[in-house]
Amino acid sequence: MIQPIAENREKAVDKELIQLLLMLIVSPRLPTDLRIRQQLADDPDFQELYSCILALRELSFALHSGDLQRFVDGKGFILGNLKALQSNLRHLTWQTKRVAKGDFSQKVDFLGEFSQAFNEMTSNLKNMNMQLHKLARLDGLTQLSNRMALEQFLGEAFDKARAQANHLSILMIDIDHFKKVNDLYGHHAGDQVLIQISKVLKKQFRATDMLARYGGEEFMAVQPETRIDQAIKIGNRVLEAVRNTNVQLDAKQRLTVTLSVGISSIAPADRSFEDIVKRSDAALYEAKNSGRNRLCVCSYSQDNCMDGIS
Ligand code: GH3
Ligand code: MG
Ligand code: MG
Repeated sequence: MIQPIAENREKAVDKELIQLLLMLIVSPRLPTDLRIRQQLADDPDFQELYSCILALRELSFALHSGDLQRFVDGKGFILGNLKALQSNLRHLTWQTKRVAKGDFSQKVDFLGEFSQAFNEMTSNLKNMNMQLHKLARLDGLTQLSNRMALEQFLGEAFDKARAQANHLSILMIDIDHFKKVNDLYGHHAGDQVLIQISKVLKKQFRATDMLARYGGEEFMAVQPETRIDQAIKIGNRVLEAVRNTNVQLDAKQRLTVTLSVGISSIAPADRSFEDIVKRSDAALYEAKNSGRNRLCVCSYSQDNCMDGIS
């Protein structure tokens, strides 16, 4: 609050100065031929006040126009605060660019309610992004990993097995005569078979293995650090578990299905995981051709696939 003090008769109110200051502070445009009486123009205090107000006008207009790069000379309480705001807004711009690139760890703390809203936004984006990332890697019907997640896992597992001279086995699993399930019981029943068989399969593998829906009624299991004889054991366990599963179609109807499985493991000459996948696929083909409901193994070349039923 301004407290008036007793008036000094010799220093009457300088109306002209007050008008000039008002115009400098209030008016959106200054006259090009601003006239200031000589006595004021020569006064060093007035000169400082005048350049201070001009600096404030310039910076406040730059902020209003969204220009955050304007360099304004001068010091003082108000100008200092505006400069701090300008610098914070510049930092906020940088942070927003980071958010646009997917860095949701950005937090703001200088803008009161805006900070709260910004931080809530980045935290929600982070959660939604995590959910989307998870969803993008899941098969919608069976909730198993999808092909994209599988291929990423395979690539990493292959590189690791190579680097550490470790074992790596791949099982291709295919439901036998699945088309008949659809034809006889309908597509919905087919879906039920896929969902329930997926659950049975999932229980047969370790948390460190990857079981994915490869496509249609085909699945793939990747087993890091697993020798081929161990993979064959697990493959036979999988065949047995599915044979013993009664898939519930509805209150009255149940059915059983069988699987064919093709297995292969990493070999010294393999250049990528695709080489193992090709051999597992050849082994699966062999299992189908030799009567289904069984597993076959293909060790080093596609020519020597053999029955792996123990
Ligand atoms: P095989 O023993 O040789 O593997 O015979 P199959 O009938 O299992 O294989 P085929 O490739 O002839 O048929 C696969 C069928 O799986 C055809 C396709 O309509 C069905 N299918 C693929 N995806 C889905 C799905 O998501 N839901 C349902 N219900 N059926 C599916
Ligand atoms: Mg099939
Ligand atoms: Mg198939």
